[in-house]
Amino acid sequence: MKKRSLDGVLAELDRQHLTRRRTTVDGFAEPGSRLVTTVGGRTLIDFSSNDYLGLAHHPALAAAMSECASRTGAGSGASHLVTGHGIEHERLEAELAAFTGRERALLFSTGYMANVGVIAALADRGELVLLDRLSHASIIDGTVLSGARFKRYTHADADAAGRILSDNPDESVLVATDGVFSMDGDIAPLSRLAKAARTHNAWLVVDDAHGIGVLGKKGRGATEELSSEDVPVLIGTLGKAFGSFGAFVAGSRDLIDFLIQRARSYIYTTALPQPVAAATRKALEMSQRESWRRERVLALTARFREGAREIGLPLMDSNTPIQPLLLGSSAAALQAQAELLEAGFRVVAIRAPTVAKGSERLRITLSAAHTEEQVDALIARLGQIQLARSDKRMGFAE
Ligand SMILES: *Cc1c(COP(=O)(O)O)cnc(C)c1O
Repeated sequence: MKKRSLDGVLAELDRQHLTRRRTTVDGFAEPGSRLVTTVGGRTLIDFSSNDYLGLAHHPALAAAMSECASRTGAGSGASHLVTGHGIEHERLEAELAAFTGRERALLFSTGYMANVGVIAALADRGELVLLDRLSHASIIDGTVLSGARFKRYTHADADAAGRILSDNPDESVLVATDGVFSMDGDIAPLSRLAKAARTHNAWLVVDDAHGIGVLGKKGRGATEELSSEDVPVLIGTLGKAFGSFGAFVAGSRDLIDFLIQRARSYIYTTALPQPVAAATRKALEMSQRESWRRERVLALTARFREGAREIGLPLMDSNTPIQPLLLGSSAAALQAQAELLEAGFRVVAIRAPTVAKGSERLRITLSAAHTEEQVDALIARLGQIQLARSDKRMGFAE
């Protein structure tokens, strides 16, 4: 076997407009805003973060973090099962259990690790796992790691999932879905998936990375109206709406005890720094006390959709703060990204393999920290891009 040539791979990615590049952020022009300063001294309005509630750069979170660091130091020093489990972790887990209405919650270092650990622990080799066709990469990776077979049902099609469950009654053990789909912004048919999973005695795992903190009257996410019997395994991330870092699994006492014994991405890794947990506790408290944050991000979302619809932008069917504009090719998405950057907007083009070829898009996200003026300015600039194209008798989607 020969090593493959990396420069060959890189050149091919470049040729297909698939090279990914990072922008280095070196600060925030105003704390709590979405005005990002990048290296090179430009100030951009960020419309691509997952900071839906405007908490990531809130001074209260930074203060909670440094207050905690002065007590606990920066690092936790070991995994949770050795000596890394601290009082801030314990308190945050109790608060997350109360927030989600579950018996217990368990912290993971990231959402990626939560999905990998949970699915690989619950599904065994040879069993069958059902996944939505647009599942997040971490759900797929957890399934691959479990050694289970998996079938992917048509996106958001609970009937299709139900048929696979009926056809494989003895092997199906788990159905996993995003709550809000990360690149499309639509919501999974959760109550119907729950019914199908319960009928066939399979686990339903809902990864509500983009719904928790944002959706529902109380901000409990896409599953707020469902019971813990309907959604026995609820995963939430803390680096998005909560503006911090990490993730959790919420469920029954037995589920959490089992995961502490079996989830390898929980066991074999250093515990999250306690100051991060302290910042998350502050975020959780603020998100509940300041319900205007989720009202505001949803109002800005509605404003964006209305303005975009008026000028005929290619909106997708999403009522969450994730508002993709479908452009249909990597080149078109990159071109739009570059034009927006020129005008002072940070909006990221999403390309294959994150989304299917031909469905390349701009992924615009709204935040409670945006102003109405910023949203209106973005719409106006998007309109100019479209006009420039239609002048050349080319649709936005080409
Ligand atoms: C972002 C995301 C994750 C990963 O969470 P991290 O905490 O960033 O690792 C998992 N699932 C979905 C659906 C996501 O969008």
